[in-house]
Amino acid sequence: MSLRPGRLVLLGHPVAHSLSPRFQNAALRAAGLPLVYEALDVPPVDLARTLAGLREINAAGNATIPHKQAVAVDCDEATPIARRVGAVNTFWCENGRLFGDNTDVAGFQAAVKELCGDSATLRLVALLGAGGAAAAALAAVEQWPGVRARVWARTPARARALCARFAAVADHEPRVEDLVAGADVVVNATPIGLGDTAMALDPTILDRQTAVLDLVYRRGGTPLTRAARARGLRAMDGTTMLLEQGALAFERWFGVEPDRDVMRQSLSESLAR
Ligand code: NAP
Repeated sequence: MSLRPGRLVLLGHPVAHSLSPRFQNAALRAAGLPLVYEALDVPPVDLARTLAGLREINAAGNATIPHKQAVAVDCDEATPIARRVGAVNTFWCENGRLFGDNTDVAGFQAAVKELCGDSATLRLVALLGAGGAAAAALAAVEQWPGVRARVWARTPARARALCARFAAVADHEPRVEDLVAGADVVVNATPIGLGDTAMALDPTILDRQTAVLDLVYRRGGTPLTRAARARGLRAMDGTTMLLEQGALAFERWFGVEPDRDVMRQSLSESLAR
């Protein structure tokens, strides 16, 4: 869409830690758009009422943990990729109708491309975690001909259920050692890595040619990406995915591309604080 939204918000709970307001506001200023992107901490019990109010003013925005799935359910229309993931991270309203998309999928693809090169070189993606980010990663894998995924999660039933939804490309793998064997890229889609030391897996079990993509982002990289790089492996944290999903959301709201350099600069300044 290219309408001017009545308000631009990020719905999450908690949400204060999010860096999206910083780089989205930098992009809005650079584009000369007189809007402020606001983080709204909305407990799940208040989400329906908040969305009803946002519809009335034709607002737009993003949804993050724990609201992506609930916003998808509330949408009047969602893009095929958002329906496939079962989650909406980007929404907008027109005449009181709520529209949703999922730009995490393309954000994930952009990160993998930057880390590994063309998807045509990939055969096997190993995923740790079976939540919304893992679903977005599997929806991405589905779009890459000939690429398969293995999924490990601490709650095996959740991994099995996710693989059943993406049965054409995904298999559940109960052992981390088997998960990573021969993988082109290992993806951490759990929140482990937000702290100083914990890692979703021990990178010493990885083959030299396996790349590591941690969807968690952190100043100076996550413990996993730092340890993987120290072993000489290619590794990247979630910054590129965060930036790209945000840039694509901006395009959905305004119908124009944001200045990605401005966004990147703002994000790297925020991470340096
Ligand atoms: P989610 O839906 O809550 O799923 C989290 C997954 O991680 C679940 O499988 C959960 O297992 C597992 N998990 C949680 N804590 C764990 C632990 N201590 N040990 C092992 N597994 C654990 O969350 P999500 O939306 O998928 O997000 C996952 C991570 O990706 C978050 O850190 C998020 O910030 C990041 N992310 C980054 C971007 C980006 O743009 N860079 C985009 C989306 C998400 P259970 O089911 O057993 O709880």
